[in-house]
Amino acid sequence: METHSLIKENTLTAQYDTPDDEYYMHLALEEADYAAELGEVPIGAVVVSADGVVVRAHNRREVDHDPSAHAEFIALREAAQQLGRWRLSDCTVYVTLEPCPMCAGLMQQARIKRCVFAAADPKSGALGTLYRLHDDSRLNHSFQVTSGVLADESSKLLQDFFSRLRKNRS
Ligand SMILES: [Zn+2]
Repeated sequence: METHSLIKENTLTAQYDTPDDEYYMHLALEEADYAAELGEVPIGAVVVSADGVVVRAHNRREVDHDPSAHAEFIALREAAQQLGRWRLSDCTVYVTLEPCPMCAGLMQQARIKRCVFAAADPKSGALGTLYRLHDDSRLNHSFQVTSGVLADESSKLLQDFFSRLRKNRS
């Protein structure tokens, strides 16, 4: 019983509590997997509106020769195109790695409702790690952030990708 209550307590103190978040993050992880198959750093994103999934996208920086082709950046632009509006205030963006300043900036511009990310990014994370662009009173929009959803799965994808890369280079 004691073990049980401990688990329950951990669950309650986790930073997320909705099974939907895991469901959508799984879709984003599938996109990340696909990116790895293309030789891209495995990062995936999904934009979800009140009506469900709007778009899924993955990192395409290498294949597109485009420094802005981050998974969530592409997903946001395509979601806006599909919905026929730039204001995505009913949308949640699921992404497998904490967004960089560019992507967090676009989320801000798109007025998103919430961002859910898996692994934190100590080198460029702008939603809590290095910056808090979702929550800066100097900016004209703020949005909710949920972190750590399926973080281990995402980290493993990234680690496997980079260890394969190192092996191929040596
Ligand atoms: Zn980015």
